[in-house]
Amino acid sequence: QEDDFKKVISHAKEYGYVFQSSEIYDGLSAVYDYAQNGAELKKNIREYWWKAMVQLNDNIVGLDSAIFMHPTVWKASGHVDAFNDPLIDNKDSKKRYRADVLVEDYTAKIEAKIDKEVTKAEKRFGNAFDKKQFLETNPRVVGYQEQINTILKRLGKSLENEDLVDVKNLIEELEIACPLSGSRNWTDVKQFNLMFGTKLGASADSAMDLYLRPETAQGIFVNFLNVQKTGRMKIPFGIAQVGKAFRNEIVARQFIFRQREFEQMEMQFFIRPGSQKEWYETWKEKRMAWHLSLGLGAENYRFHDHEKLAHYADAAADIEFKFPFGFKELEGIHSRTDFDLGSHEKFSGKKLQYFDPELNESYVPYVVETSIGLDRMFLAVFSNSLVEEELDNNTTRTVLKLPAVLAPMKAAVLPLVKKDGLPELAQEIIDDLKWDFNVVYDEKDAVGRRYRRQDANGTPFCITVDHQSLEDKTVTIRHRDTMEQQRVAIADVKAIIHKEVDM
Ligand code: ATP
Repeated sequence: QEDDFKKVISHAKEYGYVFQSSEIYDGLSAVYDYAQNGAELKKNIREYWWKAMVQLNDNIVGLDSAIFMHPTVWKASGHVDAFNDPLIDNKDSKKRYRADVLVEDYTAKIEAKIDKEVTKAEKRFGNAFDKKQFLETNPRVVGYQEQINTILKRLGKSLENEDLVDVKNLIEELEIACPLSGSRNWTDVKQFNLMFGTKLGASADSAMDLYLRPETAQGIFVNFLNVQKTGRMKIPFGIAQVGKAFRNEIVARQFIFRQREFEQMEMQFFIRPGSQKEWYETWKEKRMAWHLSLGLGAENYRFHDHEKLAHYADAAADIEFKFPFGFKELEGIHSRTDFDLGSHEKFSGKKLQYFDPELNESYVPYVVETSIGLDRMFLAVFSNSLVEEELDNNTTRTVLKLPAVLAPMKAAVLPLVKKDGLPELAQEIIDDLKWDFNVVYDEKDAVGRRYRRQDANGTPFCITVDHQSLEDKTVTIRHRDTMEQQRVAIADVKAIIHKEVDM
């Protein structure tokens, strides 16, 4: 698993997807830059989301609010008081951990034991092996699973009750039961606020303390009435936005999974009080359907319903994805009640109510939110797509099987040789295609090597121009995943690509 993940990270660098920020200065921890291909992939994921959420729903509109907001916003939202991570230091190693993540590391160790049992049983039973049944009935596996559930339940309860002493106790017990850090010398658990602070204004006494927003949602809440009125929106309706968010994450690791600066794609859906259960279920389903539409494999997703709820929620679930390091949160769906709008009413003294013409009454709407990290989605797509394939002739190829709609480059145009007018014809084809798609020209090396390069880059089509092309205006078009080649008229190329890559 770890090796797979290393491959993902080095492939992302080698093919111009993701670089460490400020690399020439030895990098900045947990901050990343998206390179020539990464920027395109990210843009395509953003557009895929925006199209599904805004363009295809006539009751959802977009917003692009500022990163800086009035500081009272973060008091009202609860972030000043409650946006904390529980931290614990190991006195021997001087390493700092997020207490909840550390506990998850212990449960991951137990999960690894389950995986081992599965592999063993798979070998023993061969084709007759029924994994689902095994997981449900094997006493050892069931025991491990119960152990995990008990640990997580206890963690959830202690965090909810702010019982930080018990969180420390739990870690100490776990370290004895399944040693992980190799040291039992811990400090107490302390709460640490995750917001980045900065100052607005130049002079010391007039400067105002600001925060970089830790989520995009609040920009939607404070604009709720402006958008509702000017857009003449009727409940139920949604406001969607994509933008940067910042969190001073302590345990920032796992590549772009957990960064200090990242992008969120959030949608707040405003509804009648009392209808939240129904809309919560609807959005859980709709969001899962969106994920499945990309074809990364249904077995790689699962819901995780929260028992421990944030201060603003009356129901919450994660859509978890099978990353190279296991199932982890990719998206959250939260029933936020009227917490945010109600709180902004109190703090601002302005009414944030909606007049419902059907009920003939005013109320503070309830909210169901869908919130997904763009960078996490990038990692999900990228890691899932990277495969090593054994070929018939005993060689292997590395292919980045990105969904064609998301691929940065849709086609590469390759003249078979660098002479006889083939480059010129290739260029003509590019000049026609580039109005519709990103296309790339490549004339270096043997054509087989060029195919491999495009496979590894995730380009769904290679269009090869040869001598026959000059005579009959046809080319070969090679499909990345099947490696099949067809001879087609140059005039048909555009339509063939459109069919596969259009959103
Ligand atoms: P986690 O438990 O992993 O810290 P969270 O529950 O705090 O995440 P939310 O506040 O619900 O996350 O944010 C919504 C989404 O934003 C998450 O599902 C995730 O995809 C993304 N996200 C949150 N924090 C980060 C981060 N530090 N880096 C990248 N993406 C993030």
